[in-house]
Amino acid sequence: MTDSKADQIRAFYDTLFSAWGCQHWWPAQSRFEMIVGAYLTQNTSWTNVEKALAALRTAELLSVDGIRRTPITELEKLIRSSGYFRQKAQRLKTFVKFLDKRYGGSLSRMFAQPVMKLRKELLALNGVRAETADSILLYAGNQPVFVVDAYTRRILERHGVIEARVTYDEIRELFEQALAPLGDEEFAQRMSGASGGVVERPRGSSHSPSRMSMASRTPLAQVFNEMHGLLVGVGKNYCLRSEMHCEQCPLQRHLPEKC
Ligand code: SF4
Repeated sequence: MTDSKADQIRAFYDTLFSAWGCQHWWPAQSRFEMIVGAYLTQNTSWTNVEKALAALRTAELLSVDGIRRTPITELEKLIRSSGYFRQKAQRLKTFVKFLDKRYGGSLSRMFAQPVMKLRKELLALNGVRAETADSILLYAGNQPVFVVDAYTRRILERHGVIEARVTYDEIRELFEQALAPLGDEEFAQRMSGASGGVVERPRGSSHSPSRMSMASRTPLAQVFNEMHGLLVGVGKNYCLRSEMHCEQCPLQRHLPEKC
């Protein structure tokens, strides 16, 4: 057992990254596709999101201008497979209106803002919760903001790192502080060497390399990117809501002794 929460989190990272390597999140060809995916993935599986993204792509509407000029009823039809399609279509329209009004329709101008200022603006938009805002900042903006999801919370609770009442932002800050020492150049080099640029077979929750997963980002943003993907792999494959498969899970060695 390690002696602090930060040490435990770094130990999780070392174990998972050694076992599975780069996870290649987020699977998208552009920043806007990533943002649309972050909205659509709320309350549904990624398979359903992929169908909706494919429909938008086929209709040549997977762009800021595409969402801007598509009538809402048409947009609803195209993203129907992602569920809650009326709500999600409205929210995509709201995002584009925000982008137009505040940043003249430019994602580059939007992401040039100080990260916490932009986070606040995103959180003020209808349908953007902390996980969605932080996903957009990390995966589309390449900003060093850690994304906390239900898998993260579950794994930390089961390992006794946090208690149930801990807030989203407390967990985010815990990860950001714990992983900060790993964001140096030496570590980035080790990571790029380990990835080999290609994932031979899915491990954890890895995707095939995509334009966005291979985008240039700071070493710290890359570490946050990988850690989130690695924890999703644990949560999806071993640390399920209703059962745990600790015997096969790479994190078994980090379980508290009482387990
Ligand atoms: S499956 Fe077991 S070992 Fe793996 S993260 Fe969950 S509690 Fe830990």
